[in-house]
Amino acid sequence: MQLITTIAAMRAARAEQTLLGLVPTMGYLHAGHLSLVRRAKAECGCVAVSIFVNPTQFRPNEDFSRYPRDLERDLALLAAEGVELVFAPSADEIYPADFGTYVILPAADEVLEGAARPNHFRGVATVVCKLFNIIQPTHAYFGQKDAQQTVVIRQMVRDLNLPVEITIAPTVREADGLALSSRNSYLSPSERAIAPQIYQALMAAQARYQAGERTAATLKHTVAALLQQEPAFHMEYISAADPLTLRELKLIGPQGALLSLAVRLGSVRLIDNLLLTEV
Ligand code: AMP
Repeated sequence: MQLITTIAAMRAARAEQTLLGLVPTMGYLHAGHLSLVRRAKAECGCVAVSIFVNPTQFRPNEDFSRYPRDLERDLALLAAEGVELVFAPSADEIYPADFGTYVILPAADEVLEGAARPNHFRGVATVVCKLFNIIQPTHAYFGQKDAQQTVVIRQMVRDLNLPVEITIAPTVREADGLALSSRNSYLSPSERAIAPQIYQALMAAQARYQAGERTAATLKHTVAALLQQEPAFHMEYISAADPLTLRELKLIGPQGALLSLAVRLGSVRLIDNLLLTEV
């Protein structure tokens, strides 16, 4: 496995491959990331993983400086998966002092995570576009855990004709249902104990959907009412949206719905989602 920190060395290493699967990450890897790596390995043979805590997708008051980092541990995990290339550049390598071009998807900033975190998707789209240009993967792998991110990436790839095939893999969860996230390491033991209620609340709404309920407000209320029973949760938003356009729905039709939420638990902000689809 090669650890690469410069754009020039990354381009040189890439030139030796034909099929190349990319898994972009911010590091502090867990089984969710590794599920993407395994999928890439199975489909492409050769896998590049980027590890870059991208400053432009954090707002000034967010957790950029305290975001968990452990490159040595990440490298051991990736070596065990048979990954060929790890790209872990410095912030200056990606954003030199005279950097000034961004990829902006205005519609994404109006809803859900985009509305809650201004400029977040500008940072995500810009860094993923740069990684695609630097690494030139044939395939790239993203997790359903970050549902709006998958919509943003697909739209960028379409709009800018980027020659990369995108695959979205399912959310990997702990045994008790909590979606794996590097940010779970911020949770105190008592917060960790109640965090699975987020998934349970989403599942309760899914059960009502499967029983025939199609009114979005009723399904959202099911989630909100359950989470309100635990005073430590502060709901930021709960949404039932068209899975492709992310437009909020009143009635859920044959297209199904993305049921997604952001919840604060102490100082930790958690997101999760379920796709409601007709079986
Ligand atoms: P991050 O390091 O948080 O930027 O995540 C890197 C990639 O891993 C993104 O495509 C995420 O959607 C994906 N990912 C994060 N958590 C999970 C999870 N629990 N299950 C599946 N994919 C995940």
